[in-house]
Amino acid sequence: MQAKANKKISIVIPVYNEASNIQALFIELTSVLSGLPYAYEFIFVDDGSRDQSLSIIKQLAEANSHVYYIELSRNFGHQYALKAGLDLSNGDCAISMDCDLQHPPEVIKSLVAKWEEGFDVVYTRRMEDKNLPWLKRKTSSMFYTILNRLSDLQLENGTADFRLMNRNVLNAFSHLNESEFFIRGLIKWAGFRQVAIDYSPRERFSGDSKYNLKKMISFALRGITSFSVKPLQMIASLGMILFLISLILVPYALISFLIGRVVSGWTSLMISVIFFGSLQLLMMGIIGLYISKLVIQSKQRPLYFIRETNYSSPNINERER
Ligand code: UDP
Ligand code: MG
Repeated sequence: MQAKANKKISIVIPVYNEASNIQALFIELTSVLSGLPYAYEFIFVDDGSRDQSLSIIKQLAEANSHVYYIELSRNFGHQYALKAGLDLSNGDCAISMDCDLQHPPEVIKSLVAKWEEGFDVVYTRRMEDKNLPWLKRKTSSMFYTILNRLSDLQLENGTADFRLMNRNVLNAFSHLNESEFFIRGLIKWAGFRQVAIDYSPRERFSGDSKYNLKKMISFALRGITSFSVKPLQMIASLGMILFLISLILVPYALISFLIGRVVSGWTSLMISVIFFGSLQLLMMGIIGLYISKLVIQSKQRPLYFIRETNYSSPNINERER
């Protein structure tokens, strides 16, 4: 077995307008990692920040040889920034975490301890905590309930993108290029030996969450449509049931007409037109969602572009070949 000091831990941190958090995170991370017997590096992935984040990271990188930056060409979104960092990282394991100190750096010690026990993935579960806003807690638990009900995955409540992945898993993940990347679902799907660790989240150090309601809804839809075709099966069954009902209703209407008992029902007519009209639109919308995924995926575009980086990784060369 490799000696600990020869093993390297890559910490991957997506950054979007976090100028006021980077320094504090860096200090805490350094104090945790310098206390562990491993080589380590911090890879900050700047996801098109519009504030001073990138220049702060670059200054840190000049002063400290553990710090690297990857500048993406624009804002691609949290999941893609993470993907970029994980793809490039060349540590023996990588730990992904947020830049706002909600994921407490001291938990890294427990992540690494589990890794040493031989686990491939060490993921974390956020314990119910009053530090989070009520709306965030509610929407988050609703998200997991719906996702689990609709898909074959069973994601645990509060599993965020704070986890350790070993080299094997990282290599496996660098081959995944689906256009709508949803790491926490993919991790569960991927298998390997996984173990969970519970932690209580801290409050955001400063700044606001980058996920507004619109982003959360699109994140949830992405999770559901990436891991489940149940909505499609549901509308197909519903269509089938309605068709069977119509098989009874149509003869009924015909017979009523023939025996001259025609109803003057404007109301019932309107109700059925409105109801079935909107139901059809909804179903078409759901089908459209899936088709749009096919269209995007069929273009096979890269998930991100790197504008500049000071990180030299064998993985980069491999990708460019
Ligand atoms: N983030 C990113 N790109 C984005 C949005 C967010 O790289 O488009 C980063 C952000 O800087 C943070 C992490 O993703 O490090 C999680 O975001 P945030 O803390 O806003 O999400 P929340 O914790 O509120 O779910
Ligand atoms: Mg956060």
